[in-house]
Amino acid sequence: MSEFPNYSTIAIHGDSEFHDSQDVAPPIRLSSTYRYNSNPDDLVAPGAAGAIEGSELWYSRISNPSAYKAEKILSEIIGKPSILYANGLAAFHAAVTAVNPKTVFIGTPSYHGCHGILQLLKRNYGIKVYDLDDDPSLLQKGDLIHVESPANPISTCRDIAKYAKIAHERGAYLMVDATFAPPPLSDPFKFGADIVMHSGTKYFGGHSDLLAGVLATESADLRKTLYADRLVLGSICSSFDAWLLVRSLRTLNIRVKTQVANAERIVKYLTEHKNELPLLKEVSHASLQKEQFVREQLPLGGPPVLQITAVSKDAARRIPSKLKYFFHATSLGGVESLIEWRCLSDPHAPPDTLRVSVGAENVEDLIEDLRKALQQ
Ligand SMILES: *Cc1c(COP(=O)(O)O)cnc(C)c1O
Repeated sequence: MSEFPNYSTIAIHGDSEFHDSQDVAPPIRLSSTYRYNSNPDDLVAPGAAGAIEGSELWYSRISNPSAYKAEKILSEIIGKPSILYANGLAAFHAAVTAVNPKTVFIGTPSYHGCHGILQLLKRNYGIKVYDLDDDPSLLQKGDLIHVESPANPISTCRDIAKYAKIAHERGAYLMVDATFAPPPLSDPFKFGADIVMHSGTKYFGGHSDLLAGVLATESADLRKTLYADRLVLGSICSSFDAWLLVRSLRTLNIRVKTQVANAERIVKYLTEHKNELPLLKEVSHASLQKEQFVREQLPLGGPPVLQITAVSKDAARRIPSKLKYFFHATSLGGVESLIEWRCLSDPHAPPDTLRVSVGAENVEDLIEDLRKALQQ
């Protein structure tokens, strides 16, 4: 257990014991390979020496110093041992490869790339893919339920506890993609998740300048498989991206809290002033959900993403070009606000919808920007 009082301290000091220089900011280390022990009598195969888990250095496809530091910090703030990947989809693929289910349940909507990986596994190996709310008797021992909560792009919360019960009654695993609600917004383990996944590209990164993915699990068996698989799949986070991630995690707490507060203010403004905003049809966000489980599973509010339905496809296409502070781009989680006509990147998104990732700018500026764009 952590000796630190809370996670904002961990995010800043969680890697201190692995510092190998006097630098306050950790050094950038980019070597792709590492020298073996110079004493011939101390030469042992790196696998036996802990290289696969990253505590010994061997070859950077297996581990690198910055990825190891990021894993130590993430393990503390997520609350379970965490493994770092090149991006969120590499993490999802690694989890499905390690669990090796015959059947997977996944919600609609969920991140299109997770659907994409399952379709690829269906094509190659015939795994069966069903909707989250299909008949639970289709699940066997060792199968997988994958719940994205809050869900991309609609930003509403799914009941993790409900799916944990369905999975565990059948001996299946529950994986939760908590990308939209990083710590401290949510703790899916508290509600029964076996594996928690994050696209670290989003809030953990927070500056739109790195790709990373994370899997966390209590299961030592699963972790052993995940590390061994990562070695051969080559899906570790690169040294430089991992270094950027360590830098980014330092400010996770303040970034996320600011972004949540901004998003909730924007949702409130849009819903209360809908009559004055002729291009706005609907807003979707967890703060508008009434169910009790939403308050329990997202106690601090959030996520900092919302979905806007415009009055028409044409309005949705044009709104991004009228905004000054929301860049028209895919992705989310950075301190820069973004908006996306979502059907450009997600083939399943309705053509009248926009996904809004709220950044850390002054919220009055953001509201004024949206007001103008939704009035024209
Ligand atoms: C972005 C995202 C992913 C994929 O992550 P990458 O880092 O882009 O590979 C997976 N799930 C959710 C919910 C996402 O938003």
